[in-house]
Amino acid sequence: MTNRTKIVLKSGKDQSVKRFHPWIFSGAIKKTYGPLVEGNVVDVYDNKDNFLGCGHYQIGSIAVRVLSFQETDIDRQFYFNRLQTALNIRKELLQNMPETDVYRLVHGEGDQLPGLIIDIYNDTAVLQMHSVGMFLARDHIAEALQKLYGSALEHIYCKSSGTLPKKALEDEQKDFFMMGDKVSGVVKEYGVKYHINWLEGQKTGFFIDQRENRRLLGDYAKNRVVANVFGYTGGFSLFAMQNGAKMVHTIDSSAKAIDLTDENVQLNFGETTAHKGIAADAFDFFAKAEDTYDLIVLDPPAFAKHHNVLSNALQGYKRINQRAFENIGPNGVLFTFSCSQAVSPQNFRKSVFAAAANAGRKVRILHQLTQPADHPISIFHPEGEYLKGLVLHVE
Ligand code: SAH
Repeated sequence: MTNRTKIVLKSGKDQSVKRFHPWIFSGAIKKTYGPLVEGNVVDVYDNKDNFLGCGHYQIGSIAVRVLSFQETDIDRQFYFNRLQTALNIRKELLQNMPETDVYRLVHGEGDQLPGLIIDIYNDTAVLQMHSVGMFLARDHIAEALQKLYGSALEHIYCKSSGTLPKKALEDEQKDFFMMGDKVSGVVKEYGVKYHINWLEGQKTGFFIDQRENRRLLGDYAKNRVVANVFGYTGGFSLFAMQNGAKMVHTIDSSAKAIDLTDENVQLNFGETTAHKGIAADAFDFFAKAEDTYDLIVLDPPAFAKHHNVLSNALQGYKRINQRAFENIGPNGVLFTFSCSQAVSPQNFRKSVFAAAANAGRKVRILHQLTQPADHPISIFHPEGEYLKGLVLHVE
């Protein structure tokens, strides 16, 4: 602890960290004592020399990601304790997810480990680092995982080339196995099987955050004709099929995603005519759709990655939802989502309402959805709430 660089904040710029918000912006820094090395742990003080927290220093607008608000060593024991807490928080969830072996163990700020994501796929852990400090701590993290899971964990893959800052650690390999060598495998989510390739797949290989919402879709699928738009590996489609949908179409602009969906349909249901994969842009799909659907899923990628493109993003949500309202048959159900952190639930809802009004449909909200318990939100870090969904009845 003693050798750490000390950062002193400007007076008045310490309020959010005193309320346990884990980000310290570079503009809040008044003075530093010692070298600032990217990835190193630094101590943060207020203007009156009171300790506020310690965390990973990084070049950029978020200068420090706070790991602890108490004076503590950030060592192998620290990481073990944090991971043990994360697993403990998920104990009840894991006991109550029958036939499920894929879940998120660490969700960044929600687990007091800003910059770190760990997804568990049966016997494989996939690590995704968003900060240099977490990347440098990888051996402690892998060691903690091995201690926690023992022989149940056989493979650890670090997948951080897409998430670390471009300029950081330029000469280092960022995607590699830290243990074992399994590149893909079959996992289960409430009994539905998925073939997942963590090396080639999007994110860590799968969108775990939609698990409970996919299951809920099953309740509305019986006898309905379903369009799963922005389907990726077809998760919503598989739950629809398992629950008696009449016909399911999966639409994704990525031909590779559609291949993965077809593979997953085959894995669960064998040869079937009840599913069709369509590689197309979502807007083109609706423009050309010859069929109408009575259950539609819209799960687009984040339309707004930053606040400054917010109004374009809201327009995007309005347009795509309007297409769905125009297509959907009477007594239809729309599952519509936004995973843009910059879009608030209120703004998302307004866009969807405008779309419904433009389409001239009568719409009721049946469910308001969010991310599941293995994607927890620190109450001090509201930015962690990113997934928003509405289940709408369309008369
Ligand atoms: N619903 C999925 C996750 C969707 S991720 C699940 O449950 O796993 C968003 C998907 O949208 C990605 O697979 C991406 O390839 C696709 N996509 C992005 N832009 C698109 C567009 N304009 N039209 C159709 N699909 C698009």
